[in-house]
This record gives sequence, C-alpha cells and structure tokens, in this order.
Amino acid sequence: MKTNREKYDHICSQIAAKDQAAIDVLLPGGVPTQFHTIEQYQAKPITVTSVGRYRRGFYVKGAEARITKKDIEEADATLANWVAPALDDIMVGYSYKQTYGTVSGAYQYPKIGGDVTLAWDAEALSPEIERRRALYAEREGHEPCAYCRKQTPSGSMVSGTIYYRDIGGLAKKTCRYCSPTCHGYDQCGHEG
Ligand SMILES: [Zn+2]
Repeated sequence: MKTNREKYDHICSQIAAKDQAAIDVLLPGGVPTQFHTIEQYQAKPITVTSVGRYRRGFYVKGAEARITKKDIEEADATLANWVAPALDDIMVGYSYKQTYGTVSGAYQYPKIGGDVTLAWDAEALSPEIERRRALYAEREGHEPCAYCRKQTPSGSMVSGTIYYRDIGGLAKKTCRYCSPTCHGYDQCGHEG
C-alpha cells in the first residue's frame, strides 16, 4: 500500500518529465548560463538558476508538506489535463547578490531579448545603454530634472514648488525641472 506522499510524488514526477520533454522541444539548445541586464550604464551578467514551467493553479508541495487526498486528486487532474507549454509559459529563474542581500526571481523566457533592458548577449544592450547615457549621465553645465532625471542645460531649467502632506501638515519644497510638464507630473505624484 502506497502512502499519499508516494502517490503524490509519482504523479508529480510524471508531470515534471512531460514538462521537461516539452521544454527540450521548445528550446532544443537549452538556455545559456547567464543573461544580462543594465546597471549603471553597463551590461550586468545575471546567473540563470533554473528553467521551468509556470502553471496557474497547481504548485508542487514541498517535501515537508502533508499530502491529502485532495492534493493527489489535483495532481492527477493536472496530469490528465496536461498540455504542452508555449514559450510564454517558460520561466527563467535567476539570482544575484546585491549590497543588502540576494535578489531572486524569474522572467518569462521571451522577455529576455524582448525587453530593451534584458538580453542574452551583453552587446545587444548597447543601444539602450547609449540612449540612457545620452539622457541621464552627468554632464558639464547640466542638471538632472527632479522628476524625469534627464540631464538638462542649467539655463533652461525651471523652478517649481511642490505642495504635499507631511506629518506636520501641509509642506512645500522647491525643485528644478526640465519643463513645466515635469513640474506638473511631480505635483500629481505628491497628491494622494
Ligand atoms: Zn523632466
């Protein structure tokens, strides 16, 4: 007589095998070990930690969880209703260290290379890095707009006052903007 846990694990391993076979068909060459994102005008490598399938509504329970009859039924239904994943269902897991700890998450496979800030190849990020540098990198005689951060010639900046609620009541501050439009957006951003 098999335990609930044994039954459950057996079904989940069949689901995992089908998913893996489908992923191998979708991505015959596999996935590179790293992709790149943009940080401080540079392409930053990020390590791929997993490639898996995103599935709405069914999560494989961890080894410590108690397995109920209902869990087995759900796993059975997932196996019976299994359909091959599309590329959008493939999640690329990642993890990287930051000053205050480790950041981990997952991107939908097509987003890497589809988004201007994410690419398998570092070179592919160059146009976006150049675009950002031209707009935002510090420049002689320029200041960053308080709202959009765009480097703007100091002579054409406008000053604007922002009114907002503070612990002490109504407060105000004066900032420098690239345009009256940004001043308006910043005021809107301070209204709750
Ligand atoms: Zn601006």
